[in-house]
Amino acid sequence: AKQEGRGRLRFYEARMGLQVRERRQIEHDLRHAVERGELKVFYQPQTRIDSGEAVGFEALLRWQHPERGTVPPNLFIPIAEETGSILPIGEWVLRETCREAATWEKPLRIAVNVSAVQLHAPGFAELVHEVLFTTGLAPARLELEITETALIRDLPRALATLRRIKALGVRIAMDDFGTGYSSLSNLRAFPFDKIKIDSSFTRSVDTSEQAATIVRTVLGLGRGLGLPVLAEGVETSAELAFLGAEACHEAQGYLLGRPAPIGAFGHLTAGRLRA
Ligand code: C2E
Ligand code: CA
Ligand code: CA
Ligand code: CA
Repeated sequence: AKQEGRGRLRFYEARMGLQVRERRQIEHDLRHAVERGELKVFYQPQTRIDSGEAVGFEALLRWQHPERGTVPPNLFIPIAEETGSILPIGEWVLRETCREAATWEKPLRIAVNVSAVQLHAPGFAELVHEVLFTTGLAPARLELEITETALIRDLPRALATLRRIKALGVRIAMDDFGTGYSSLSNLRAFPFDKIKIDSSFTRSVDTSEQAATIVRTVLGLGRGLGLPVLAEGVETSAELAFLGAEACHEAQGYLLGRPAPIGAFGHLTAGRLRA
């Protein structure tokens, strides 16, 4: 069975265009990426649809590999999760973004992605507490983005950890809603503050009646549960207009701002000039 699993993995890697040797090299390089300063956080604005104002950013990790150039997170995060490197990497992202956000004149939110491995690692809630204390960031400004898939590994444990984090005053968003093992009971049982609609639905909302129905249903669900909804992957004004008409609260996507180093958003993080 072990042999078979390995075979499947190799087939998968071949399909992904990743040779086994290359993958080992990436695993190795990832272990040193933090200490070598190769990781960088990009920020993407999250915008209130009714007023058009930026209310926060999502932190998106970038790996600037010395030879490979920028390695996309969809390639290296799954490897980091399998090898455990995601723990130091995830801690670095959390600390770096909280430190950065604490310097902004405007108290905008910062949303940080949390992997299943981090959520289930012992001491994760304590780590969040320590990082908030060390950086001085107001807990209400931090939002952790968690996918449903991250919960199901161990539901009672995930629930206990998220409750401890909520008790600190930190917000929790359900990420990629509708793509995983969507369970409505998870939405009810877990202390979420927001639902994020995956870009696969947003993208087709103006062209597919099915996608439009799904988005309307999630918005209705949010209203019923008292949870604001953010649509991710908004690329066109037609998509944004649909979302606005359906009273979706927030949007994120290339139309409103591509992920970039925080310096690109100085106009958003700076305070209002006093007259
Ligand atoms: P995600 O959490 O669903 O993040 C949204 C992804 O959509 C990002 O891809 C973002 O750059 C991209 N995106 C934003 N707006 C648009 C748009 O209008 N059109 C299109 N086509 N794409 C858009 P990215 O940055 O490549 O990240 C991919 C995934 O990697 C993320 O998906 C998240 O699951 C993971 N990831 C990124 N940073 C971190 C991190 O710090 N920790 C963990 N655990 N995962 C991360
Ligand atoms: Ca996310
Ligand atoms: Ca997504
Ligand atoms: Ca579209």
